[in-house]
Amino acid sequence: MSATPTTTSVSDYEVLVVGAGFSGLYLLHRLRAEGHLVHAVEQAPEVGGTWYWNRYPGARCDVESVDYSYSWDEDLQQEWTWTEKYPAQHDILAYLKHVADRFDLRKDIDFNTTLTGAEWDESQGLWTATAADGRVYRARYLLMAVGCLSAPKDIDLPGFQEFTGRVLRTYDWPEGEDLRGQTVGVVGTGSTGAQVVPALAETVADLTVVQRTPNFVIPTRNRPLHEGELDEIKADYPARRIRNKTHPAGVFRSDNPKNAYDVDDEERRATFQERWEGGGINFLGSFADLMFDQAANDAVVEFVHSKIDEIVDDPETAASLKPDGYPLGAKRPVVATDYYETYNRSNVHLVDVKKNPLETFTATGFRLADGTEYEVDTMVLATGFDAFTGPFTKMDIRGTGGRSLAEIWNRDGAKTHLGFGASGFPNMIIVANVGSPSVLANMVTAIEQHVDWISRLLSTMRDEGHTMIEAQESAQEAWAQTVEDVAAMTLWPNGDSGSWYRGANVDGKVQLFMPYAAGVVEYGTTIDKAAANDYEGFTLS
Ligand code: NAP
Repeated sequence: MSATPTTTSVSDYEVLVVGAGFSGLYLLHRLRAEGHLVHAVEQAPEVGGTWYWNRYPGARCDVESVDYSYSWDEDLQQEWTWTEKYPAQHDILAYLKHVADRFDLRKDIDFNTTLTGAEWDESQGLWTATAADGRVYRARYLLMAVGCLSAPKDIDLPGFQEFTGRVLRTYDWPEGEDLRGQTVGVVGTGSTGAQVVPALAETVADLTVVQRTPNFVIPTRNRPLHEGELDEIKADYPARRIRNKTHPAGVFRSDNPKNAYDVDDEERRATFQERWEGGGINFLGSFADLMFDQAANDAVVEFVHSKIDEIVDDPETAASLKPDGYPLGAKRPVVATDYYETYNRSNVHLVDVKKNPLETFTATGFRLADGTEYEVDTMVLATGFDAFTGPFTKMDIRGTGGRSLAEIWNRDGAKTHLGFGASGFPNMIIVANVGSPSVLANMVTAIEQHVDWISRLLSTMRDEGHTMIEAQESAQEAWAQTVEDVAAMTLWPNGDSGSWYRGANVDGKVQLFMPYAAGVVEYGTTIDKAAANDYEGFTLS
């Protein structure tokens, strides 16, 4: 796995941060400000994490720009200018580059540095991490700011090795490539597929979309910010940030307090319609019980089906696009612009491989079970991620007694105590990933909550003379059970969705519900209580 070492330099730090995306940058800033000797390594040549890599046409965040940004510096939020309601990939990347420059973070980041492994040295109480080029980093604390969606899923398409055309993957798309004039196939209709398909449809000659499981796609309704809108938001920014932290999703939403069947059919449909017109993830706030009551969820499913029928001209295509067999929300809801409308274009075709399986790829394209052949110049794979665990298990991480994190997580599933630490891996601290709200919330709010807790922890440890922290196995088991139990109170784990929330999108992956579904408010109370209780469930020494 690792490249031949070209250098043997050894660098010593108190804290090594792995990753320079939203988590890594804030960690670096915060810990440095508190006097820790901290350094970061980043695989890419630039900051940004997921927003550096995912440069595919149409890439955009579905949390509003003004909320998908750091809240910890008033001057920063006052001086930055967002131009659209929802930020495009390049807007977020420009923002993160600005943050790196403004807070002079780059001097403490080694770019183009891929860690291949990290080993806990019990005798010295230090992590030794090795980069692909042989450089070695030693640090007391290893902070895994690696992101939840940064390791692509392996290609598992039948006969794909036969295909000799060009292959592009959305997770590391070449800058500016729009495949103009080409015949293109896309596999994947998740959040990424639903953004790249309408964007590519504008430029390619012919686009065939291979769909396995249809998703519920809510219109984004992106727009430029109105004149004066940003000024109004900025005038109220601190209060807005506080409001965001009072909602489980880490971003304020005016959720309807009523349940779906508290109202008559007419009001229910009007409510869905109004939220659909408004666009975005607010649609999920239509009724309070959408994620808790099957009948309420059935009602929203029926509404989305009716919208698909309204928008899509061809009845057979419309039928294929309708998700069934799982509740809306069990798979990450998709927010995209003109997704269903795109199937009315003459250069776009939907292939439903649930009805007519993809038999094999060929040298020039792919063949379906009924013998239909498709020829393409380029295949675009928007096939998703080995979510949460992939960025960890692709590294060789060795804890106490040489135990392998990959072996344990691949065998038992990923378990942590409160989302921060895994038993047997002292001083490895996890940021906004498995066992915490992470992807079920505005990621930036979830990250800030984690970084604030971690920075308090490290300063407390320093002040109290501790040098080691480790999750207790019993506490970890109990927390993993809590994460499952909380998910089981919702409709999230239900149905046959194949969701990456529980590892079901990767063949053979142990299925555990990985994010903590109670949200950032409840979670904040829990982790603050643990901290106040001498970091209950962790052993400090
Ligand atoms: P994803 O949601 O896992 O979607 C992957 C797609 O590829 C699915 O449609 C899947 O079909 C399909 N696929 C995978 N393997 C396949 C195979 N062997 N044959 C046929 N189809 C196959 O991944 P994603 O779209 O990259 O999104 C991941 C997450 O990133 C999102 O859920 C979201 O959290 C985040 N994201 C957010 C935004 C945004 O803010 N708007 C944009 C992009 C991504 P099956 O469902 O049948 O497996």
